[in-house]
Amino acid sequence: MPEPEVDREGRPFYVVSGEEIKAGKVVDVYFLRTMETLRHLGLEDTRVVAEIAARSLPRSRRGGRFEWGVLAGVEEVVRLLEGRRVDLYALPDGSVFEPGLPVMRIEGPYSEFGPLETSLLGFLCSMSGVATAAAHVKVAAGGKPVVNFGIRRNHPAISLAIERAGLIGGLDGSSGILVEELGFKPVGTMPHALIIIAGDQVRAWRAFDEAVPEDVPRIALVDTLCDEKTEAIKAAEALGERLHGVRLDTPSSRRGRMEEIVREVRWELDLRGYKHVKIFVSGGLDEVSVESLSRAGADAFGVGSRICGADPVDFGMDVVEVEGEPRAKRGIKSGAKDVFRCPNCLRYLVLPKGSEPPTCPECGARVEPAYVKFLEGGRLVADLPTTAELQERTLSQLRSMGLLPEG
Ligand SMILES: [Zn+2]
Repeated sequence: MPEPEVDREGRPFYVVSGEEIKAGKVVDVYFLRTMETLRHLGLEDTRVVAEIAARSLPRSRRGGRFEWGVLAGVEEVVRLLEGRRVDLYALPDGSVFEPGLPVMRIEGPYSEFGPLETSLLGFLCSMSGVATAAAHVKVAAGGKPVVNFGIRRNHPAISLAIERAGLIGGLDGSSGILVEELGFKPVGTMPHALIIIAGDQVRAWRAFDEAVPEDVPRIALVDTLCDEKTEAIKAAEALGERLHGVRLDTPSSRRGRMEEIVREVRWELDLRGYKHVKIFVSGGLDEVSVESLSRAGADAFGVGSRICGADPVDFGMDVVEVEGEPRAKRGIKSGAKDVFRCPNCLRYLVLPKGSEPPTCPECGARVEPAYVKFLEGGRLVADLPTTAELQERTLSQLRSMGLLPEG
C-alpha cells in the first residue's frame, strides 16, 4: 500500500515537538477511547491516585549484583504534568531503585493525566534504561572514566536527552556539543577520517596538537594504518609530554585479543618512559569487555551502543486508589503509599500514605521520606537539580553501596 499523501512541511524528520508531547499528541489510542467511555459514564474527573513502578529490570550483561536501576526522566514528567491539576510525588532523578518499588505517585482527576500515560512512561522507561546501562558500565569499569560516544546510534532528535540520562547514570562525559547546555564540556578524540585525509598519522597528530585549543587533551588514535603498538610508540615520540593518551578503537574482528593489545601497548610505552600516556579504549564495549579491559590496564573507555541503545526499563502506571478508596488490579497493592529510605544503608520501605517514618529494620536508623513533592495542583514546588548534581547523587549511592571506590 503506498504511503498516504501527507504534508511533511515542518516535520521532515518525523519528530514530535515538545509542545505536541505536552498537548498529549503522543498517546496510545486506547487512552482516548477510555476517556470517551469515562465521559459516557460521567466519570472522567474521578479523583484517582496512580503509582509507577518497574516490573523488572533489563538484564545487565554482568548479572549478579546488578539488580538495580538508576531513575531518570522524572524532570521530564514534572514538565509534562506542570500546569495540570495534579500533585506529583517522586523519587528524584539519579535515585538507585529496585524493581517493584513505586518511584512516583500522582494524585488528581484521571482526565488530567491518564491520557498522558504514554508519554509519561516513555520518558521514564527510556531515560532510566540509558541511565541504568550507563551506571552498570561505570561500575564495571571500577570507577575509571567512561564517556558516551554513542549518540550516532540514535535518532538525533533525542540525542541531548540520551546524553543527559547517561550523565545522570554517572558517566564522566559525552561527545555531543550540546552537552554544554547541561554544564559539561563535550569530550572526544579524533576519527580515522582525519588520519586518512591528512595522509599519515604523525602529520595528523602534530596538526591536531597545533590546531585545537590547549585545554583539549591530546589523545591520539593509534590503530589506523599500522598495529596499535607501533602507532602508540610513534604518537608518544611525536608529541612527548604533550600526549595525554592513545585511543585504541576495537573493531569486532580483533575482539578477544584486545586485552593482550592493551597489555602490549602499556608495556612498550612504559619501557620507553611514557608512563604518563593513558590508554583509552572504544568500540563496541559493554560491561563485560570494559571490566576485562580495565583489568588489562586500560585507563578510560568510550562506550556507545550499550548505553545509547539500552533496553528500556518496563515501568508501568497503575491506579491504586479511586475517590479515596483503595482499589487496584490483581498483583498490585492497593492504596496510596509513602516511600521511605534509610540514610545509612539506603534501604527502601513502602508504607501506607501518612505513616510515620519507622526505624530501619536493617540498621535501626530513623528512615527519611524518599519522595520529593514536585507539583502541587500543577505548580512546581521543588527545585530541579542540575545534571551535575544528579550525577553526584547517583555516584554517591553507588559508592555507599560499595559498587564504586570512594573518592
Ligand atoms: Zn538502615
